[in-house]
Amino acid sequence: METSPLELPADRVQRIAAELQCHPGDEQVALRLDKEDELRHFREHFYIPKMKDLPPIDLSLVNKDDDAIYFLGHSLGLQPKMVKTYLEEELDKWAKMGGYGHDVGKRPWIIGDESIVGLMKDIVGASEKEIALMNALTVNLHLLLLSFFKPTPKRYKILLEAKAFCSDHYAIESQIQLRGLDVEKSMRIIKPREGEEILRLEDILDIIEKEGDSIAVILFSGVHFYTGQLFNIPAITKAGQAKGCFVGFDLAHAVGNVELHLHDWGVDFACWCSYKYLNSGAGGIAGAFIHEKHANTVKPALVGWFGHELSTRFQMDNKLQLIPGVNGFRISNPPILLVCSLHASLEIFEQASIKALRRKSILLTGYLEHLIKLYCHRREAERRGPTVTIITPSRIEERGCQLTLAFSRPKKDVFEELEKRGVVCDKREPHGIRVAPVPLYNSFHDVHKFVNLLTSVLDTA
Ligand SMILES: *Cc1c(COP(=O)(O)O)cnc(C)c1O
Repeated sequence: METSPLELPADRVQRIAAELQCHPGDEQVALRLDKEDELRHFREHFYIPKMKDLPPIDLSLVNKDDDAIYFLGHSLGLQPKMVKTYLEEELDKWAKMGGYGHDVGKRPWIIGDESIVGLMKDIVGASEKEIALMNALTVNLHLLLLSFFKPTPKRYKILLEAKAFCSDHYAIESQIQLRGLDVEKSMRIIKPREGEEILRLEDILDIIEKEGDSIAVILFSGVHFYTGQLFNIPAITKAGQAKGCFVGFDLAHAVGNVELHLHDWGVDFACWCSYKYLNSGAGGIAGAFIHEKHANTVKPALVGWFGHELSTRFQMDNKLQLIPGVNGFRISNPPILLVCSLHASLEIFEQASIKALRRKSILLTGYLEHLIKLYCHRREAERRGPTVTIITPSRIEERGCQLTLAFSRPKKDVFEELEKRGVVCDKREPHGIRVAPVPLYNSFHDVHKFVNLLTSVLDTA
């Protein structure tokens, strides 16, 4: 799906260590990797939380003025420094001219969403007309399913992965109930093989091949929220469509994390939130995609005035002129304050480019994996056994920046010890800790510090 960089992360680390004549686990290697990182200055575009401001911090264990090690970008991205400025621009406009703000300025409120949607094109790989910024993620998922899930007596299933994010699971369950269907029969969940955590592509394709004729919609996540597995979006799309299914993706953990080419892959529909890797702040405005091939055939089930063509919208004659494609799915006028925070972040993506970010991300997460493996080898050599397992696939094509780690001691203890030392990450059932070094604002030094803290926590156990 993506071309691998010429040099694998582990090889790069070994080469630098040889050059510096040091151990690959030494801090010097991290500092050299940062020095060679052409994207490192993007960190300055963000507020990085300080140790002293974190609620669970133990001040006896840290330097209070140091930056925290923020590895929680998979859950809530950090704040771009320009957010406040952009919010103030719109607040000022509102204060000074009230309703005239709808039509003037950098982001006329009536087209607030449209004024920034172009910045989303490269991130998801779609044309402007195929993207709408609106609502929140689960709401968009519902709106899309209302149009794409059209069950018939023969084709009545929705296919999804096991342990899908609960909101998606509930959305699918309730969509099935809304059609008066039996959830047991219509919700087709693919589980990993016994004893495995990662779904194998061959198993997914096998089910599509065998049951495709009874599947109406395939809805997968792009990157699984728990395991961090990046699914093969083009392969699943192709297989599903060959069987006559609509194929959609929830890109919550994929957008701004991995390269996406929704248009070229022919994906039917997709949706995503913007507060994770896209740094728009909690509850930020979400996105939706419908492929151009459906522009005149797939219509919204629920319509509001912002789905009406702009040129005649304000004639208010109640004769609907529906915008073709996903923009006809917009129901209400856009929340301008949410547009502002997303705008600040998308401008940074535009400067950095998702391609370059992904290249750094492969190296950054590869470095994290490499350091963890060095630690495991040391434990094995000391006959104390490895204590860390990486649940996330090790193939670059099968993951984004997140690694999910499991331990041979209770994750709650490890997590709490890390929290006290200024590592911001999270724990998820059944046994994982999720850490996501984000290429926009995390450094190789962050990764090095994290692994040092993790190993000292594990060694003292
Ligand atoms: C984060 C996330 C959500 C959250 O849904 P909201 O509607 O934004 O609250 C839903 N689904 C997935 C897969 C997620 O990762």
